[in-house]
Amino acid sequence: MADELKPVLELLIAAPRGFCAGVDRAIRIVELAIEKHGAPVYVRHEIVHNKFVVDTLKAKGAVFVEELDQVPDGLPVVFSAHGVPKSVPAAAAARGLSYLDATCPLVSKVHRQAERLVAAGRHIVFIGHAGHPEVVGTFGQVPPGSMTLVETIADAETLVPADPDTLSFLTQTTLSVDDTAAVVAALRRRFPAIQAPRGEDICYATSNRQAAVKAIASSCDALLVIGAPNSSNSLRLVEVAERQGVPALLIQRAADLDLDWLVGIGTLGITAGASAPEMLVRELVERLAERYEVIEREEETTRETIAFKLPRELDAAA
Ligand code: SF4
Repeated sequence: MADELKPVLELLIAAPRGFCAGVDRAIRIVELAIEKHGAPVYVRHEIVHNKFVVDTLKAKGAVFVEELDQVPDGLPVVFSAHGVPKSVPAAAAARGLSYLDATCPLVSKVHRQAERLVAAGRHIVFIGHAGHPEVVGTFGQVPPGSMTLVETIADAETLVPADPDTLSFLTQTTLSVDDTAAVVAALRRRFPAIQAPRGEDICYATSNRQAAVKAIASSCDALLVIGAPNSSNSLRLVEVAERQGVPALLIQRAADLDLDWLVGIGTLGITAGASAPEMLVRELVERLAERYEVIEREEETTRETIAFKLPRELDAAA
């Protein structure tokens, strides 16, 4: 009887959303490392930027630290999906630590491109966000001074390279597709000889999730993104919605949502960043269903089938 009094809220759920193949693989690496070596297994940096994932792995025996010198001698350590500078595995090897690298293969691909370009005498313009661990890791693949960070169009407009004829650009994998295109356009206009990467550096998961939000935005009064405040790809999803004129909010868990934010909203879009598990989407829908008569609809823009292989040493444990 009480249900009849609930207001109706239509939920338009974007697909693809949530976990990507790189996040799936990184989490599996930590789980299998715990199975193989026993707890504790140390993880340098959050394995992926999601508190729920980190807390779940902590409960299974993972210990998260920011630096390698916090890992005790003799215990295994996993490097996060964002990638690490070369100095980190080198320091682990020097200490005789057993380590597993959970760097997403699509980030590793950018690392290898950076090395090849520098070996070929190119100077790299790297489009990314200062301080993000992926950017720190990519800069750490090449000697200091061989890569310059560009974050914005303004940076591209004021860049003064030593030799404009030897420039190549690479990008972080989790950027805004539209913002990056604008930065690249500014670079190409100023430096017509600049070389582009062989393939797109922004990864399939980042671009698919942004396209899925664009596809539902015009049908939504507001959009919720489930993700962490330090998750680059989640923050970009908020921006994509806002640029389509749709108010958007990033929340980590359903309990974070102030239901007053939904006043006047008939259709609510929902998505999740690449490091947020589907369980958090279901938790949100359940919370909304306590207050509203929810009508769920999913709009799928593309189907993802990508899966990445585990490191060989863990294959047998899988
Ligand atoms: Fe890899 Fe992209 Fe997922 Fe990052 S968001 S882990 S680059 S697939």
